[in-house]
Amino acid sequence: MTNGPLDIEATNTTERRTAMTRTAALKLILSKLILRTTEEPDTGCWVWLGATTTDGYGEIRDESRSKKYAHRLALIARGLGLDGLVVHHHCRNRACWRPAHLTQLTNSAHSLHHAAERRREKTGETG
Ligand SMILES: [Zn+2]
Ligand SMILES: [Zn+2]
Repeated sequence: MTNGPLDIEATNTTERRTAMTRTAALKLILSKLILRTTEEPDTGCWVWLGATTTDGYGEIRDESRSKKYAHRLALIARGLGLDGLVVHHHCRNRACWRPAHLTQLTNSAHSLHHAAERRREKTGETG
């Protein structure tokens, strides 16, 4: 046994530092998002005014300079784990990143959700 309590502590500190750096970096990205966002008065959507994907989703570079969806980064910056999950826009505004307008769903739950929405539209029901 060479790993004394001091070694364990060193490892934990490194991990904690990495996690903190990531959080700090994401907070910085969040503040960039806020600076280039306008709130839609009717819907309350926080609409990103920066770059968008061809599908109309807000796009922003993360701390490693790789392009990410703005709405996903906004949730990750709030500490939500999105691995394997898709993010649904309740407001149908793809450039919106307001967390209250977003829900994380599994892929299959998301498909069902959209299929149900399409059915409601066909029959003319609302809600
Ligand atoms: Zn919205
Ligand atoms: Zn959706």
